[in-house]
Amino acid sequence: MDCIFCKIINGDIPSNKVFENDNFIAILDAFPANEGHTLIIPKKHFENIFEIDEETLKEGYAIAKKIANSIKKSLNIDNINILQNNGALAGQTVNHFHIHVIPRIENDNVIIKSSPVSIDNDKIKQIIENIKENI
Ligand code: 5GP
Ligand code: ZN
Repeated sequence: MDCIFCKIINGDIPSNKVFENDNFIAILDAFPANEGHTLIIPKKHFENIFEIDEETLKEGYAIAKKIANSIKKSLNIDNINILQNNGALAGQTVNHFHIHVIPRIENDNVIIKSSPVSIDNDKIKQIIENIKENI
């Protein structure tokens, strides 16, 4: 499969690895938003949140916490975003599930922002029902 993260996991493409176990690697992002920007990547190829199983997902977020703690200690960072994109419209550019750990500093170039849309009460009721019924 032509997947850049699978190639990194196989060792076909080099990476700056900071953590590895049986199921995951964590590497520095090649185009970091800030110093220490790290990607947590399962060794098995799951395209996105819809494909990954719950157990692997839990392990991924536990590793994200370990990396966040390590960045806090070693880089003296107290502000961190944990992000995960699914689908092109959501900003996913590599279609192999991964979790971003992004250290934040004063006046950095990271922009994560939205302006609220207005939704009428009938529509909100419908949305609540739809989501509840499909969990
Ligand atoms: P996405 O936009 O899919 O959520 O995130 C993909 C991330 O992978 C981007 O932040 C991008 O900089 C990073 N990336 C893309 N290609 C490579 C690569 O070859 N090596 C590493 N370490 N990171 C990569
Ligand atoms: Zn892959």
